[in-house]
Amino acid sequence: MIKTRFAPSPTGNLHIGGARTALFNYLFAKHNNGIFVLRIEDTDIERSKEEYTQDILEGLRWLGILWDEGPLFQRERMDIYREHAYRLLKEGLAYRCYCTPEVLEEKRKNALKEGKKPNYDRTCRDLNMEYPDRPYVIRFKTPLEGQVSFNDIVRGKITFNCEELDDLVILRSDNTPTYNFTVVVDDALMGITHIIRGDDHINNTPRQILIYKALGYSIPEFAHVPLIHGKDRTRLSKRHGATSLLEYKNEGFLPEALMNYLARLGWAYKDQEVFSREELIEKFDLSHVGKSPAIFDMDKLSWLNSYYIKNTDDRTIAKNLEYFLEKEGIAVDRKEKLIPVVKSLKERAKTLKEMASMAAYFFNDNIEYDEKAREKFLTPQTRDILESFLNGFKTLHTLDEASEKKIIEDIVRQTNKKVVDVIQPIRVALTGRTASPGIFEVIDILGRESVEKRIDRAIRWIK
Ligand code: GLU
Repeated sequence: MIKTRFAPSPTGNLHIGGARTALFNYLFAKHNNGIFVLRIEDTDIERSKEEYTQDILEGLRWLGILWDEGPLFQRERMDIYREHAYRLLKEGLAYRCYCTPEVLEEKRKNALKEGKKPNYDRTCRDLNMEYPDRPYVIRFKTPLEGQVSFNDIVRGKITFNCEELDDLVILRSDNTPTYNFTVVVDDALMGITHIIRGDDHINNTPRQILIYKALGYSIPEFAHVPLIHGKDRTRLSKRHGATSLLEYKNEGFLPEALMNYLARLGWAYKDQEVFSREELIEKFDLSHVGKSPAIFDMDKLSWLNSYYIKNTDDRTIAKNLEYFLEKEGIAVDRKEKLIPVVKSLKERAKTLKEMASMAAYFFNDNIEYDEKAREKFLTPQTRDILESFLNGFKTLHTLDEASEKKIIEDIVRQTNKKVVDVIQPIRVALTGRTASPGIFEVIDILGRESVEKRIDRAIRWIK
């Protein structure tokens, strides 16, 4: 049974890179009918915050990356790590180190001065005595020679010399365990078979493998995925735009678009760009994860988002639009307008937020007139046009394009004006601007009551 996990530390919001790691783990598990575990690595008491945990959970739920087990919290498992650390101590595979932080710092400085790697010099490794009243950390006894190798699914064979590795601390003097230790204990006890994570963890992997061996647990497979870069080929950061996942939600991206986009960041299936969730589960595999960093491309994400806006059913988009209108402080006066508005804008809006701003004027009859539009088209000369239109419109039994067109044609004939000169004042009266969807479409969306109110308001405004 394949088992994967996403193991974020709640020391910041869920970012694009983390979400991609979560997604790859999720897709790989689902593809193989396996289990996906969520584990919150909150042993760093100072930096871990509840609000970040909530942000991570919300982000994953929004994307629909749902876990089969968890969330498990490392903070609730402290006894398990301590037990393991003391087991290694008892078995002679770890040791108590009494060196004080001051002494260590001194040694570190000296090593650097001599141009050496500032590794711990192993003073306490072979101490045969205990000092009951002195504080200590527990260090792992890294073999002094030999090599550690593993076959990374993405990178191929990777080898480290033990000489390069330190005797790392596994339990601090305050009795809290360190990352490289907890991660092994948990992955082993939870039966994780595949560890898929960012390649910034490659250097941790030999240390972790040695700990697996010492504890007598079997070693999982590793797949280290290249980090995400910005267009300038440096590691993705705030400089490249929004990096927190929920910012994309707030900007009006659809979760389907983001999921699709994240999946393609570092993974490819032929030259296909658009994938539904089911297709991703069906097609995802680790052998098509690339070796070089994926480049985060906002234009492509926008393109996918417009694609999903166009291809998602109107009702779903309408629900989202309503949320965004409210968020922008635009009260939806009549809900029945939502679907026609969506129909009219879904081909053009790149995000739901943009759609909301394009749609705003449909929902409040007290529209703001664009200043230039008003000066040019709401004048004493156009008042007659608006009045004639309103009178004609009121006599219509049903609203249909043919009858509305006829009113406009009649006005054109009576006034000897061009069609556009008749339509523009009506458009400004209805929308506040000189550019909008076709006038009959606007009338259709607004409905009788809003049209009458708005024309009437424009006439009164002119007077
Ligand atoms: N908590 C670690 C991180 O957020 C997890 C690393 C791992 O997947 O092993 O980087």
